[in-house]
Amino acid sequence: MSSIAFIGLGNMGAPMAHNLIKAGHSLTVFDLVPAAVQGLSDAGARAAGSAAEAVRGAEVVISMLPASKHVEALYLDNDLLSSIDPSALVIECSTIAPDSARKVAAAAQARGLAMIDAPVSGGTGGAAAGTLTFIVGGEPDALQRAMPVLQNMGKNIFHAGTAGAGQVAKICNNMLLGILMAGTSEALALGVANGLDPKVLSDIIAKSSGRNWATELYNPWPGVMEHAPASKGYAGGFGVDLMLKDLGLAAESALSSRSSIPLGELARNLYSLHSTGGSGKLDFSSIVNLYTHNT
Ligand code: NAD
Repeated sequence: MSSIAFIGLGNMGAPMAHNLIKAGHSLTVFDLVPAAVQGLSDAGARAAGSAAEAVRGAEVVISMLPASKHVEALYLDNDLLSSIDPSALVIECSTIAPDSARKVAAAAQARGLAMIDAPVSGGTGGAAAGTLTFIVGGEPDALQRAMPVLQNMGKNIFHAGTAGAGQVAKICNNMLLGILMAGTSEALALGVANGLDPKVLSDIIAKSSGRNWATELYNPWPGVMEHAPASKGYAGGFGVDLMLKDLGLAAESALSSRSSIPLGELARNLYSLHSTGGSGKLDFSSIVNLYTHNT
């Protein structure tokens, strides 16, 4: 069992940290929001007053923050790296720009610290159930060291390549997810506008060639799937603004590699319209409301 510093206890970080406590690790936690820290200290974690205090003496440091600017601010601007024991392993789980991940990894390496980028897929449900997919970029031996800890939070662990590669793979996956959720919404809205029952149409698609993750597990139409965010007023889940962030990262990666992503860009514009219409905090499957004029 390891002594672990966990920084960033939001929708994803909190359940991940809970699973590490359940697995028997000794956790020291920090978040800018005191209530988030309290939730974990009630479960047995030690509460730290700052990130620097949290990492002191830790064998493993895990961070789960909103975006690139938070990760760069923490590790580089506030120089958290210099407070981490050189023998420790850093596991950065936020979804951020590959360039940011590489920049922080290079700074860590310059101090002799092992670091991997390990963004996740599987949402808040996967975080709570300990079934996340980790998509890792970094050196193979650092991943080997991280494995026992990652296995306490996730089920599938992939090595995508060197530093930043985990982020590239995660961005490609989420661009596809954004596109397929918009496409599924469009198809369902067309069917309903032409007299079909959304549940019947969803069942047909789920067993036909249009089948996808949304029709199988995360249907965007309210009432079709009891446990999907669509049936809970689009609360919880994966927010429109987080999807918008990931589609923005895809656009940046496309620019820097001179790739064409016409569908990714269209999806980014759709989610942007939806967000500025006041739906930024709703689950991203609420994109269906753009087609049904329910916003
Ligand atoms: P969140 O906004 O709920 O949580 C982020 C937490 O980080 C907040 O509690 C915030 O107070 C804290 N924080 C920010 N800056 C900090 C700092 N300097 N020091 C300490 N704490 C700080 O976000 P989330 O939904 O938990 O997502 C976290 C990351 O995981 C994001 O990069 C997101 O894209 C990614 N992700 C989210 C989901 C999802 O379904 N929510 C799924 C996969 C990946």
